[in-house]
Amino acid sequence: MEFITKPSGQGHISFPGNIISSTSNNNNNLQISSCLTISSISSEPRVHPTPSRYENQKRRDWNTFCQYLRNHRPPLALSLCSSANVLEFLRYLDQFGKTKVHNQTCPFFGIQNPPAPCRCPLRQAWGSLDALIGRLRAAYEENGGLPEANPFGARAVRLFLRDVRDFQSKSRGISYEKKRKRAKQKGASIDDQSPAGATN
Ligand SMILES: [Zn+2]
Repeated sequence: MEFITKPSGQGHISFPGNIISSTSNNNNNLQISSCLTISSISSEPRVHPTPSRYENQKRRDWNTFCQYLRNHRPPLALSLCSSANVLEFLRYLDQFGKTKVHNQTCPFFGIQNPPAPCRCPLRQAWGSLDALIGRLRAAYEENGGLPEANPFGARAVRLFLRDVRDFQSKSRGISYEKKRKRAKQKGASIDDQSPAGATN
């Protein structure tokens, strides 16, 4: 009974579940996991806020996306990457989300601070996705991509993000508009939004 074991250090990922289970011993996967913590950045106050934090995050996000393309079955060349692939990537990230998004059938739909747990899924918060797309859009062009071919700037991606925002806003009982304004006045923390945001 001998099985041939696959080499483990070469970024072979056959399905998403592997990523989480092997983050401790694989460098490539660490890049993935760093992207997956996008929504928790602001909860790590001890990391000194250097001016290049955005740049570092952008580089990590870009590496993560490139790795995603490499691990795609079949592998995808960046030049062939479309907005559909970007949307697929965003949906893939959802499994690592930490934001409770209530289904329409949940009794807590629209309630900001539910009094009890429920079985609704955890997702990536809209603010995290929005900021992520902003960084990847910039990175794409910094890495030689043509602006007119930028899949991160595609209309389909914009519409998708808008839908996510609308639904999460309703589902979580949160108005992102108000939140934004308040955050500007305070000049301070939004739990799940990094500063790179703005799409329009
Ligand atoms: Zn729920």
